[in-house]
Amino acid sequence: MSENQAKQHILIIEDEAKIAELLEKYLYLEGYQTSLIHDGNLVLNAVNELNPDLIILDIMLPGVNGIELCSKIRQTSDVPIIMLTARVEEIDHLIGFDVGADDYVTKPFKPKELMARVKAILKRRRMPTNTRSTFQAGTIVLNPSEHKVLVKDEELKLTINEFSLLKILIASPNKVFSRQDLLTLTQGKYFESYERSIDSHIKNLRKKLTVADPQNHYIESIYGVGYKFKI
Ligand code: CA
Repeated sequence: MSENQAKQHILIIEDEAKIAELLEKYLYLEGYQTSLIHDGNLVLNAVNELNPDLIILDIMLPGVNGIELCSKIRQTSDVPIIMLTARVEEIDHLIGFDVGADDYVTKPFKPKELMARVKAILKRRRMPTNTRSTFQAGTIVLNPSEHKVLVKDEELKLTINEFSLLKILIASPNKVFSRQDLLTLTQGKYFESYERSIDSHIKNLRKKLTVADPQNHYIESIYGVGYKFKI
């Protein structure tokens, strides 16, 4: 990070002192500025006052719990939120519940892995949002604002992950994306077997596209690299 670049500010909300210290240390080493709160009751004021670039939010907190806090923060802010959970089973529940977090990490976590997630989310935020209203290639028309895909003028139902992947691929036809690129660019809620999750979303997406338009095979695998949208 260059000297004149403002440090990105990360708000840590965690009541366990050891974990909080670990997070502060690693984030500091990565060049981030940090603030720490350990009481759920203080969080909403702090978010308003500090206006952080990203929040790391523990679920089990004294005062208000992290799930409730996440929903409340989302009412007024789209700041990226990474939630820390004590149990793997909680993640599925949270995703289903859709509290609006950007990512989920299970304790105990590897600090380096968490740092990678922080960086990926902040990088994704810095990418200019594409203001094009629709993407069209071959027989496919994708409209991001309406979250709609048409194939041969028929609407194609996609999951959020499939939609995000198709949007990235169709926006840059013939460009090869690695799985890591796709993970960074999609609004990922990935936690384990990262790369395999991309493969399975692509597989399902392909299947749906083929059913809708058997003549065309738009998504090509590039062996050992990743995927591209071929036109
Ligand atoms: Ca806790």
